[in-house]
Amino acid sequence: MQRLLLLVSLLAAAAAGFSVWSSARAGEGPAWLQVIFGPRQTLAGRRIGIVAGHSGNDSGAVCPDGLTEASVNAAVAEAVVRGLKSRGAAVDLLNEFDSRLRGYAADAFVSIHADSCGVDLSGFKVASLEGGSKASEPLAACLWERYETATGLARHPDTITYDMRGYHAFREIALATPAAIIEIGFLKADRDLLTKRPDRAAAGIVAGVECFLAAKK
Ligand SMILES: [Zn+2]
Repeated sequence: MQRLLLLVSLLAAAAAGFSVWSSARAGEGPAWLQVIFGPRQTLAGRRIGIVAGHSGNDSGAVCPDGLTEASVNAAVAEAVVRGLKSRGAAVDLLNEFDSRLRGYAADAFVSIHADSCGVDLSGFKVASLEGGSKASEPLAACLWERYETATGLARHPDTITYDMRGYHAFREIALATPAAIIEIGFLKADRDLLTKRPDRAAAGIVAGVECFLAAKK
């Protein structure tokens, strides 16, 4: 009888443990469980390339007090890499002119930049290669939607330049790799979000990639 009781209580403990584990894996349940078990592995088996804009090359835009675009891009890019890896993806964090860009093949490629400190504009924008692969369009659409939701920033399509549509890396990577560039905000007006909440900006990009690859199955 005692053995039976022991067996029943062991089974009950195992079942409870399993339900805690599976709800945390499903991205549900208390935050502390997700810290232990991690979010759902929605990106398992995927390879994703992330460029931290200007890294390894120059500082990008610079504010009067010395804040550089490259430092803002790097903080957000690193948080994006952590977010993607925690969902099971294999991620390459790339420099602006990385030697790996030539013929780079992946399930998605996103380059992260920020906008000038010299103007009083606010907002973000996304572009893919003009006349490029059709596969890039749904990636850009997902980034527009999810970044807007995560950050609350307005869309700023009027300031998309040739530098974005004709972005150099789009012409170096493999043609079949879906690719987009995002300007995550303006260094002056959106500075608080970009420097104090890089996790929020990163969450928008991770959600955009997830949205794109979930639809692509
Ligand atoms: Zn830039």
